[in-house]
Amino acid sequence: MIQLIKGDITQLKVDAIVNAANSSLLGGGGVDGAIHRAAGAHLLEECRTLNGCPTGKAKITKGYNLPAKYVIHTVGPVWQGGNNNEAELLANCYLNSLRLALKHNIRSIAFPNISTGAYGYPKDQAAEIAIRSVQNFISQNKLEIIFVIFDSENFHLYEQKLRL
Ligand code: ADP
Repeated sequence: MIQLIKGDITQLKVDAIVNAANSSLLGGGGVDGAIHRAAGAHLLEECRTLNGCPTGKAKITKGYNLPAKYVIHTVGPVWQGGNNNEAELLANCYLNSLRLALKHNIRSIAFPNISTGAYGYPKDQAAEIAIRSVQNFISQNKLEIIFVIFDSENFHLYEQKLRL
């Protein structure tokens, strides 16, 4: 099942929330900053032990002070015009996060709109990739998906594409 929610991903009581991190995994702005602030300093401590994360891959930590049990940190591609494998890398973020969730018996997972903030990915194209990747995965695996959307433009795009 796929749900759409407008709001702040740090507030969600789900098994895992996904963080749109940078490759250092040591925190940043946007959703990454919000997650670290809400989770508390122990999250950064655990992240320091992970040795970063390549673009398109995902790593998991505990959720600490968050209502969510786990944080899955994935690194989206920086938009460079579309000819630098951005689409495949973005799809891999969703796919690798979902694979990691299954491995940890996670039943509900919330995604932000990876790469559509500071990383500049065109929102329409990013939404297509996010929805296609997730729909494809849940046709084979049982998982509850929540897209958590912060801005109106993304919200309207997801509403249209999911035909809710
Ligand atoms: P990236 O570097 O991957 O582009 P950003 O954090 O800059 O990551 O933006 C990714 C998306 O997360 C954007 O659509 C932004 O509006 C959204 N966002 C920012 N803060 C939050 C939050 N607290 N909860 C959910 N989404 C958020």
